[in-house]
Amino acid sequence: MIGLNYSHCPQAKSWVDGSEGHSEFPIQNLPFGIFSPSGSDLPRGGIAIGDFVLDVAAMADLLPPAAGKTARQADAPSLNGLFALGNEAMRALRLALFDLLADAKHEAAVRPHLHAAADCQMHLPFAIGDYTDFYAGIHHAENIGRQFRPENPLLPNYKFVPIGYHGRSSSIRPSGVNVVRPQGQSRGPGMEVPRFGPTGRLDYELEMAVWIGTGNTLGKPISIGKAADHIAGLSLLNDWSARDVQAWEYQPLGPLLSKNFHTTVSPWVVTTCALAPFRMAQPTRPDGDPAPLPYLNDAADQGHGAFSVSIEVAIQTERMRAEGKAAERISKGSMAAMYWTVAQLVTHHTVGGCNLRPGDLLGTGTLSGEDRTSWGSLAELTEGGKMPIQLSNGEKRTFLEDGDEIVMTAHAEQDGCVPIGFGECRARIVRG
Ligand code: MN
Repeated sequence: MIGLNYSHCPQAKSWVDGSEGHSEFPIQNLPFGIFSPSGSDLPRGGIAIGDFVLDVAAMADLLPPAAGKTARQADAPSLNGLFALGNEAMRALRLALFDLLADAKHEAAVRPHLHAAADCQMHLPFAIGDYTDFYAGIHHAENIGRQFRPENPLLPNYKFVPIGYHGRSSSIRPSGVNVVRPQGQSRGPGMEVPRFGPTGRLDYELEMAVWIGTGNTLGKPISIGKAADHIAGLSLLNDWSARDVQAWEYQPLGPLLSKNFHTTVSPWVVTTCALAPFRMAQPTRPDGDPAPLPYLNDAADQGHGAFSVSIEVAIQTERMRAEGKAAERISKGSMAAMYWTVAQLVTHHTVGGCNLRPGDLLGTGTLSGEDRTSWGSLAELTEGGKMPIQLSNGEKRTFLEDGDEIVMTAHAEQDGCVPIGFGECRARIVRG
């Protein structure tokens, strides 16, 4: 398989306590993020290993010269400069850090720069210049489309063009930051004029985040064969949505206030390199579907441009917290729900000449599977608010209430591989 090396070996282990068999961050992962150690207000780049965060720039002098030079770029409050060096440099840095963490002879020199993750504050991994949210989850598009057009859920463009809209980057926050229930206009059935007030139909959307490493020049599109080289890695993304506001405002130009109040991302970037063993063929399109147009069609991308990643949503209500109950899973799906590969999203975004920049963010769109257990939003699970879901303590939900906390998790899994996790994408709804 492409891009495999000894860092992916299932037998690999680290001297870091508790990292072996860690459900999220074994040595086979080593995701990058921006953290502040306890007592410091200087955010900087780190990698996660077990329940610890390693200060990457502090490793520079211990690494081979080229990797050391790369590592110094991690001494910054965002990963933009680091990942702008490109996936080859990042692959070499990840391998060099792997060597330090695998061989116990480095323990004495490295250990002072390991910080307990529980004591660290995590920040956004990148300074995000631009954010675009796609709609690549075909079952989600069908489920939502069916609520509006039962006979014809998918519009005729869906299978030709990766649908998306330009989102808002200023309101993206890392996991853990509360979401203030937004206000807006909505017009329910039978209402003559819209009402204004706090949304009554607040929803989450389970998505993956695609981070851009190296960008492209204005007017010079990224070809489909080269798109993977521009992807730094993946995280989780929750595209919070006010459905009542959305229904009233979205025609003719798409969502605006229904989406721009807050977006949550998980703070760890699982790199393209760490994901190499989890690549898989893009699922075959159903008979009768058109082939992607040539600019989006690449044999290598179709052969291994998808990822074997399972994704889950859990909810913890105020009452569950008071009763000491853990968050309860409400759906489990996978990235195989994508009708387009992440490379196709990147290529399509640039094909008209648009330039992507390091740290730009693409959301995949809500990833719902075929059956109900894998639907990635409440709009789908409750059929537009008509059928409440029931939680195990008897509580019911159509949409989110104040105090509800949504926790998204994801794991890359493949036979013969050590699974790796993405950490949490968690946030709680509060009244403004
Ligand atoms: Mn979305």
